[in-house]
Amino acid sequence: MCSGRVDLAFVLRAFSKGMDGVFIGGCRLNECNYSTHGNYDALNMVLLCRKIMEHIGVDPERLRIDFMSSAEGMLFTEVMSEFGNKVKELGPLGKAEGIDHNELRSKLAEITKLVPYIKVVKNEKLASRLENPEEYDKLFTKDEIDKLFSEVISYYIDPEKCQACMTCAQRCPVEAIVGAKNQIHVIDQEKCIKCGTCFEACPPQFGAVTKISGEPVPPPIPEGERTIVRKSKER
Ligand code: SF4
Ligand code: SF4
Repeated sequence: MCSGRVDLAFVLRAFSKGMDGVFIGGCRLNECNYSTHGNYDALNMVLLCRKIMEHIGVDPERLRIDFMSSAEGMLFTEVMSEFGNKVKELGPLGKAEGIDHNELRSKLAEITKLVPYIKVVKNEKLASRLENPEEYDKLFTKDEIDKLFSEVISYYIDPEKCQACMTCAQRCPVEAIVGAKNQIHVIDQEKCIKCGTCFEACPPQFGAVTKISGEPVPPPIPEGERTIVRKSKER
């Protein structure tokens, strides 16, 4: 119902399913019936998404947002035919940009996996209210987006420190932590959405979850070596 409900992941999904263009229509800015003003969220998401598209080599003109009321049928028709013509002019997604179909799909899949992380890191800007269109292009810069992806944070459980208290596994929102009683816990990097909950949840006296930025994550400890031998039991 609200353009603010259009998640970054929805737009990326449309492109990964082969759509050549995505249009989002929102109510006029400052005319939202609710205090939430979700159309500003949609605008910021589009500005971010367009920069991400540039980063992966996709023409950002393939994504457009416009604001209008339900009484402006003529305007809607004009905007849609203009956008339709633009997309036709750009040609098929990927082909026109010279990116191989599979390469584009894997780039989009990689970015989609990072959506929760991107939303956490860019939370403040995504919630901001821009006063005029001159500010649109400055909200997210190319350098900022390049940095965002070159310094992606990963989380790793140090097997030497983990005490198998299970707190992190219970709090992880996507069940990305493999572990059991008396078993050193391990993060499944394929499932992890980099929310940082485990980092916050691991008791300070253990401090077993490490934040890694821009570096490869060490391989997980082999399954057969995960049993924790408590000092008292050793005795
Ligand atoms: S950062 Fe930790 S809590 Fe968040 S998804 Fe990854 S493993 Fe789970
Ligand atoms: S919260 Fe920390 S000590 Fe407890 S299982 Fe997770 S990583 Fe290990």
